[in-house]
Amino acid sequence: MPRPAEKRRPGVLLDRDGVLVRLVWRAGRWVSPRQLAEFALLPGAAAAVARLRAAGLPVVVVTNQPDLARGLLEKQTLAEMHRRLAAQLGVDAIYVCPHDDADGCACRKPRPGLLLAAARDFSLNLRRSFLVGDSWKDIAAGRAVGCLTVRVASPALEAELGRADFSAAGIGAAAELILRTLCRLPRRHRIADPVANRAARRVSRNLGLNRAVP
Ligand SMILES: [Mg+2]
Ligand SMILES: [Zn+2]
Repeated sequence: MPRPAEKRRPGVLLDRDGVLVRLVWRAGRWVSPRQLAEFALLPGAAAAVARLRAAGLPVVVVTNQPDLARGLLEKQTLAEMHRRLAAQLGVDAIYVCPHDDADGCACRKPRPGLLLAAARDFSLNLRRSFLVGDSWKDIAAGRAVGCLTVRVASPALEAELGRADFSAAGIGAAAELILRTLCRLPRRHRIADPVANRAARRVSRNLGLNRAVP
């Protein structure tokens, strides 16, 4: 039986490629790995996930993998990638959309199906949870369900920073920002960031902070 909203907990939803996993340069673009030989974690990913989990936050991965639908990625290869991801990062779960645009599914970001599935399985209060991604699709999916959104810099970055609540240089900085925000550290410890400041009211409202973030 689902818990009432006030009993649900915050969690962290992480995009995979460009956030936890290195992008691959192919045919003039930064894209997702298709072979095991191309699959590598970004520096700081394991430490960031460990810090978040040590703080008691469920950490789940929400990833679009349209190369499955396009026949460019083998199912077994993806399964092995995710076995490694789970083993090396210790994430609580990995949610995959295997579809492409033409499938019209409910899970391909910017649609929020993967986030809703994670919220159901982990009793998450999405309005107090963070979505970390490197593409507008991630941020849009997070915003669609009221998450606080963190945009991390990646080679695939498009110039749409204003849409996310926070920006961070990478997964390590994102984890730091999430922990500082959720732990309500004193004002002087808060990260000075113009994007964060613009989002301050939304953050305060979502987290029920007594004092507005400056
Ligand atoms: Mg990505
Ligand atoms: Zn899907």
